[in-house]
Amino acid sequence: MTAKARKEYDVIIIGGGPAGLSAGIYTSRSRLNSLLIERGVVGGRITDAELVENYPGFAKGVSGAELGQLMQQQAARYGLNTVIAEVTGLELKGKQRVVSTTQGDFNAKAIIIATGSERGKLGIPGEGELTGKGVSYCATCDAPFFKEKPVAVVGGGNAAISEALHLAKFAAKVIVIHRRNQLRATPIMEEKARAEARIEFIWDTVVEKIEGEAVVKRLSLRQVKTDKKSSLDVAGIFIAVGLKPSTDYLKGVLPLDRAGYIITNDRMETKVPGIFAAGDIRQHSPRQAITAAGDGATAAIFAERFLSQ
Ligand SMILES: Cc1cc2nc3c(=O)[nH]c(=O)nc-3n(C[C@H](O)[C@H](O)[C@H](O)COP(=O)(O)OP(=O)(O)OC[C@H]3O[C@@H](n4cnc5c(N)ncnc54)[C@H](O)[C@@H]3O)c2cc1C
Repeated sequence: MTAKARKEYDVIIIGGGPAGLSAGIYTSRSRLNSLLIERGVVGGRITDAELVENYPGFAKGVSGAELGQLMQQQAARYGLNTVIAEVTGLELKGKQRVVSTTQGDFNAKAIIIATGSERGKLGIPGEGELTGKGVSYCATCDAPFFKEKPVAVVGGGNAAISEALHLAKFAAKVIVIHRRNQLRATPIMEEKARAEARIEFIWDTVVEKIEGEAVVKRLSLRQVKTDKKSSLDVAGIFIAVGLKPSTDYLKGVLPLDRAGYIITNDRMETKVPGIFAAGDIRQHSPRQAITAAGDGATAAIFAERFLSQ
């Protein structure tokens, strides 16, 4: 039976990143009727990682795309159903939890929420208009469009440096623009970036405007300490400035913290019985693939116990 025809499940997992896929491996191996709903790329945000060196079992590292595919294949092997759709709402109806999606409604007795987080936006003029025309949030996806051209990366964390390192394989020059005078990235990432001849840094500076008509041409910059304005000619700008939890569809259903992350206990239980949360979506998550996978396994084990009660 296809996932679309069958609309009643024991467990619905929302989000197909490392947390959701690990949960799916566990629930499917436990012979629970399980459905995973993913709106984009199955594999989640780790598929943007050029090389993952800290996921156990891969002594030489593994590309994020391959890691995501392997997790998906492993879950599919045990019969996890997958639907590509965006979840737009979650409603409690007695013992049933109804998940509304762009492909219709699906019911389950237990839900595991694993929708992670998405890239923050700068909210400056030109960003929306030029997205896809030089403004990007994913170097793995778009770097080949900028061969031998100058590009900027905005941000100072691991995600920004990972983007810069990937872009340095294609672009003529990668200028990292950071609003502070030191990076937040881990020392090993910083060392790699500083050793890369094509990467340069502009410190204590913010981007105020992205200019260009059909495509990105230049950035208006402001030095935050001196207020001095300048402009920088680039063909692209990659924005990696923090994360926003993907929990908009949960407002009013579950208690969220001030930033929008889900509060759970160490069994991954939320305040609502039968609803679990796993991975980067959880308050205080270390936001790593391995911790997300661990959360997914924990949520699945306690969801199974909940269903057998
Ligand atoms: C460039 C980059 C490099 C990284 N490198 C590393 C690394 O080397 N090592 C490491 O451990 N971690 C790394 N990470 C972090 C790692 O990717 C995350 O910690 C991990 O993916 C979190 O897993 P998750 O399942 O909780 O969420 P995610 O991977 O974010 O997956 C959530 C999924 O839910 C989907 N979703 C969201 N909202 C909805 C909705 N309403 N309906 C349906 N689906 C929805 C999303 O499309 C997404 O696929 C990196 C991240 C990035 C961006």
